Amino acid sequence: MTFTYTSAPDLVGHWIDNTFHPGTGDEQKPVFDPALGKIARHVRMATVADVEAAVASAAAAQHKWGATAVQRRARVLFKFKELVEKHTEDLARLITREHGKTFPDACGEVQRGIEIIEFACGIPQLLKGQFSDNVGGGINNWSQRMPLGVTAGITPFNFPVMVPMWMAPVSIACGNSFILKPSERDPSPSLLLAELFREAGLPAGVFNVVQGDKTAVDALLNHPDVHALSFVGSTPIARYIYETASKNGKRSQALGGAKNHMVVMPDADLDQAADALIGAAYGSAGERCMAISVAVAVGAIADELVAKVKSRAEKLNINDGEAQGADMGPVVTAEAKARIQGYIGSGVEQGATLVMDGRNLTVSGREEGYFLGATLFDNVKPGMKIYDEEIFGPVLCVVRVETFAEAVELINANTFANGVACYTRDGRTAQEFAQKIQIGMVGINVPLPVPMAWHSFGGWKQSLFGDHHAYGEEGVRFYTRYKSIMQRWPDSGSKGPEFVMPVN
Ligand code: NAD
Repeated sequence: MTFTYTSAPDLVGHWIDNTFHPGTGDEQKPVFDPALGKIARHVRMATVADVEAAVASAAAAQHKWGATAVQRRARVLFKFKELVEKHTEDLARLITREHGKTFPDACGEVQRGIEIIEFACGIPQLLKGQFSDNVGGGINNWSQRMPLGVTAGITPFNFPVMVPMWMAPVSIACGNSFILKPSERDPSPSLLLAELFREAGLPAGVFNVVQGDKTAVDALLNHPDVHALSFVGSTPIARYIYETASKNGKRSQALGGAKNHMVVMPDADLDQAADALIGAAYGSAGERCMAISVAVAVGAIADELVAKVKSRAEKLNINDGEAQGADMGPVVTAEAKARIQGYIGSGVEQGATLVMDGRNLTVSGREEGYFLGATLFDNVKPGMKIYDEEIFGPVLCVVRVETFAEAVELINANTFANGVACYTRDGRTAQEFAQKIQIGMVGINVPLPVPMAWHSFGGWKQSLFGDHHAYGEEGVRFYTRYKSIMQRWPDSGSKGPEFVMPVN
């Protein structure tokens, strides 16, 4: 079979019932190639009728899929994993052209998605219930987890393959159908994933895709046949999704924005810390929810740390993501570039020290691309916009504090609580940090502590609304509901009604 989406077409549509669906509306939005600074193609915006068609297809398919033997569902995922592996480079190329990140980084994104598919292949073991024999009067009690029905995922632009893979394989393995609403900024990978699901043998309707924006999202939030929504994106929209889903009686998990700090203790290996900061702050042009955007320099090391980061940042190779040796590509759109430039201006106005200014970078041969250079601020303080808000670009802020206690207090006062890291050579400090810090994902000498597929991903506070983190066993719990069954097969006739609470 040839896959249409190994070369994306001019107009990206929807995917319903295992086939391309042109949609009923006329509205389209441009999809840019951020390195070229040009429109690459357009994406159709779903109408309410398109979402209704996707939900009807997903609801019709789910009954049979949910009743399919669990090991058969797992086999489809095994095949899907094999196909995603085979098409890693095709997916990565689509990511690089629409998102801008470097090709090796895009391959890494696909690999992290594959790891969640691998996890979902173990679904027979994960769905094994619990059983208690003879809890009294010959009764057996067992519990099992059941699928929810139709589930949906609304995903951000910054991981157009990995974040949908945090959701869809786990939901589908649990026996649900899944509707993906990808970011309208990089929609193409979603349709190659859909083709790979079909090729893997997934029945029509179990995985559908609707492209679009708020109209499509609201139609999913308000549809009575959608039972659960997973969201990953910015905090204001995450809050909106969680509140609206809850009001409508739906289950939701809504992962929001971040402001991730890295504490560098006076005893840390400063070269290691500086290397880690460069990758974590500027990798993927800072457009990662786990990017480190604040370095907290503790004690007398601040000058040396800033100098080491600066000397490394100056050597970054910023180019088209497919250029050989590129470390960092452009940001996603011209609006994102202007927004980040605005933040840099505000940092200067509010008195931070601008050590490196990335506002005016031009890349030869890519003059129209949405490039920004690595930007470094020193002497940043809470109350400055560049500290208080998520910038989501290649901007690293250094905050200077005197003590470990001050660093912990600073981080715990932040309303975001996604990821954090601490660089130290002292085990006691590391242990205390891990215990005292109020953040969902913690790294000790690990700059981007993204949990493995069989753990679960999620922040605290404004970085996650809902009870369950994404993927891993938390994901299985999110996509299933608990049922307890008590069963008795009496030997002979009835003993008559019982009016007293049975006890042993
Ligand atoms: P975004 O919030 O703008 O968009 C996310 C999704 O919501 C998209 O599918 C978009 O179409 C939809 N959407 C946008 N506006 C909407 C509205 N008014 N009503 C309903 N739906 C709407 O986020 P983004 O710019 O695509 O992604 C970047 C953000 O995502 C950053 O804040 C980043 O920190 C966050 N993020 C968080 C995590 C995490 O795990 N916590 C992971 C990746 C990205």
